Amino acid sequence: MRYADLHTHTYHSDGTRSPREVIDVAKVHRLEILAISDHDNLTAYFEVKDYAKEQGITLIPGVELSCGMDGVDVHILAYAFDATDERLDTRLRSFRETRLRRGHAMVQRLKELGYKISGARVDELAAGGAMGRPHVARALVEAGIVSSVAEAFDKLIGAGKPAYVEKERFQISEAVELIHSAGGLTSVAHPSVYPDHAQLVAKVLDAGVDAVEVMHPDVPTDDREMYTNMARFRGKFVTGGSDDHGKVKKTETLGSVRVPETLIGPILERMA
Ligand code: AMP
Ligand code: FE
Ligand code: FE
Ligand code: ZN
Repeated sequence: MRYADLHTHTYHSDGTRSPREVIDVAKVHRLEILAISDHDNLTAYFEVKDYAKEQGITLIPGVELSCGMDGVDVHILAYAFDATDERLDTRLRSFRETRLRRGHAMVQRLKELGYKISGARVDELAAGGAMGRPHVARALVEAGIVSSVAEAFDKLIGAGKPAYVEKERFQISEAVELIHSAGGLTSVAHPSVYPDHAQLVAKVLDAGVDAVEVMHPDVPTDDREMYTNMARFRGKFVTGGSDDHGKVKKTETLGSVRVPETLIGPILERMA
């Protein structure tokens, strides 16, 4: 039996690890199937697909998309699509440009609020990849304005906080259509984190999403069972992953989630 982690991030979005490091650490944990699911960015996949193969790891094309459902920011994971699909590439590129403008707007907002944050440092941390709030948070920590990334979200940049700026989002149906037309499958990321999540996730599945991420550090045991049943009842499947971001969050989670390959057959079939 092989084990998978289908949710990881690198420094091409808001993680701190290099793509190679993700492969190397996954290998230490004896994971043999992996997806790097950076926000709006496929760079890591192209960078390490050959290296992963050399290391005996099946690397599945992946990406995490921020979508909107009833005004809530719902993350949709996409897998096993054609990574060279032009429509997908164009859409992701445009989302990355939006992220950059929005990141700069948040820096501007923080400056107006009197915080001495360096916009150049935020750019540097994002390193030309998909800029996100964690980059702003890290610059705030470095400048001594807050003591942790979590505090930055709590006080300043979390949804509804003073320096929060909205981000352009996919409609779920649009994201699903795009991924399906590129030959891939979709899964609702970390289902337990959304407000009124059971109802919301059911609605997201009914909008065409193929699976639910039941194995995730933020999904408690009871919810796992509930979401597994919800998925099965609808003829959908389940996925899982550690959502590792390296050193951004309190703990590094790579290796903490091991998904048996038998659960993710539909994704492996697409890869064959
Ligand atoms: P963005 O996509 O720019 O809106 O940023 C959202 C990302 O920030 C998520 O994907 C998480 O990686 C991270 N994030 C969200 N909330 C928190 C939090 N409270 N503490 C640390 N990271 C967070
Ligand atoms: Fe993230
Ligand atoms: Fe997410
Ligand atoms: Zn994620």
